[in-house]
Amino acid sequence: MNKQVESYLDFLDGFFSNLKGLPIDILMDNPVRAAIVCVDVTNAFCCTGNLASERVAAIINPIVNLFMLAWEKGLKKIVLLQDCHTPNAKEFDAFGEHSICGTVESETVDEIKSLLFYDEMKVIKKNSINPAQNTGFDRWLEEHPEITTFIVVGDCTDLCIYQTAMHLRTAANAVNIERRVIIPEVCVSTYDVMVEVSKDSPVEPHPADLIHKLFLHHMQLNGIEIYKKFI
Ligand SMILES: [Zn+2]
Repeated sequence: MNKQVESYLDFLDGFFSNLKGLPIDILMDNPVRAAIVCVDVTNAFCCTGNLASERVAAIINPIVNLFMLAWEKGLKKIVLLQDCHTPNAKEFDAFGEHSICGTVESETVDEIKSLLFYDEMKVIKKNSINPAQNTGFDRWLEEHPEITTFIVVGDCTDLCIYQTAMHLRTAANAVNIERRVIIPEVCVSTYDVMVEVSKDSPVEPHPADLIHKLFLHHMQLNGIEIYKKFI
């Protein structure tokens, strides 16, 4: 392997294993100014259908715990950005059919749905991996100028999480406003497809461990804050 690639991969392992915890109390000093944006923690990616992944399902409990802790500390703005595809959506050309509006796949996972404050969460639907193209997300952001800290959780690290965190970061950078975009690593994940498996299928290879770390680091270099978890 090329030496530069090798040393970057070493660096990436170090970056990942040295991720720190972030005390939630500091963040919740003024909880009205914070929001959680939770992307695609739905049956389609966790439980059933073409794109469901056990690896992704493992983030459900950490996310539920974060929701409960944050709610108790006064954070009341939780946005659920979720796939709700039209039948024959263009995106299916790349990812196969998933999460068609109105199906079980498009619904929030039961663990989140059963939270007592679920009805107070804001569900925003999307038909692509982008949070703001043809969605109500930017309007919701405009309606809440008081929010200066965004915690982004969900899946997949390199797809919707990357797009969402980068949208929040670049939208603030473009107009020079103060904004923190924070990702707790235990609350984001991506799926795994080995090269050997992809050879006999239309699915592209997708080594989860590498891609997860690489995209977390890429977000960090863009000014998004990556922590291991809240403590
Ligand atoms: Zn989709």
